[in-house]
Amino acid sequence: MIHKMALDELDSLGKKIIEGFQLSDDYLKALLSLESEEELEKLYNAARKVRDHYFGNRVFLNCFIYFSTHCKNQCSFCYYNCKNEINRYRLTQEEIKEICRALKGAGFHMIDLTMGEDPYYYENPDRFVELVQMVKEELVLPIMISPGVIDNTTLLKARDKGANFFALYQETYDVELYRKLRVEQSFDNRVNARRFAKEQGYCIEDGILTGVGNDIESTILSLKGMKTNDPDMVRVMTFLPQEGTPLSNFREKSNLSELKIIAVLRLMFPKCLIPASLDLEGIDGMVPRLNAGANIVTSILPPNSLLEGVANYDRGLEERDRDIKSVIKRLESMGMRPAQQAEFKVVLGS
Ligand code: SF4
Repeated sequence: MIHKMALDELDSLGKKIIEGFQLSDDYLKALLSLESEEELEKLYNAARKVRDHYFGNRVFLNCFIYFSTHCKNQCSFCYYNCKNEINRYRLTQEEIKEICRALKGAGFHMIDLTMGEDPYYYENPDRFVELVQMVKEELVLPIMISPGVIDNTTLLKARDKGANFFALYQETYDVELYRKLRVEQSFDNRVNARRFAKEQGYCIEDGILTGVGNDIESTILSLKGMKTNDPDMVRVMTFLPQEGTPLSNFREKSNLSELKIIAVLRLMFPKCLIPASLDLEGIDGMVPRLNAGANIVTSILPPNSLLEGVANYDRGLEERDRDIKSVIKRLESMGMRPAQQAEFKVVLGS
């Protein structure tokens, strides 16, 4: 019954959202249950309509610098969890400076400084603040920080040195599932760190995983959980089993595809940044994600980079097609183009 109702309305849904329509739980359920290609195309169409209304054909480009793959945590889904015996790296300040120099004028709207919860930085968080300051001075671009649940004092210091965006993914708002994913980490501390950052003037990014045991009810819980934080950027990523981790053999036949959730995110969060990540399927995967309503390309690596992404479909491959020039070329073939830096400032509210 609900399912049918939503189907009939799919053609006009984009327009309704632009006019301020809010999705009820039943409506969300109907959208997340859509299955046929025809229904899904209509859903993506509605999401694109909303995205184009607010952002036109302009796309933002986020540069990913994963500067330390050390981590003290043991998230069950993550390749970099501390129990996994893998090669890790921690770039020196000088190496990061070199990367920044290679990035000058490349056309990025924001630089994402990401690390695991690396004890080297957690024991002396001013090291992290210095890094933020150095990158800001080198590039004079908006900076996103993704350092994990870092303390409030450090968040404030980093903000004062030029950090604009704080990314911290809850992964799920289903507390049972959270316990299985973010093993031995506090649910509330994570929520509170994000909330604090928002109150203190950061833009914030939240994110969820799909394909990791989340059903429709659990997904709705997560979508609504993200909404309570008033985020500026919301992401969904498909869980990709990682070698050497507790979930390495987990396989799920879920119909809660990343594309479907991206489209629902666009309808729930019309004005937010929504990533098309290169992490799972590279530039070929960017296209359907943008066509489902995304508007910022993330996990673009610095030129000639051997740095890590997050899930890394291309780990170990010699050719990594994840550079900004290839991204822009593909965007243009889709009739889209990179936004102006000034347009990103509007997003940041500065
Ligand atoms: S998801 Fe982040 S905090 Fe968790 S193990 Fe991986 S790097 Fe560490």
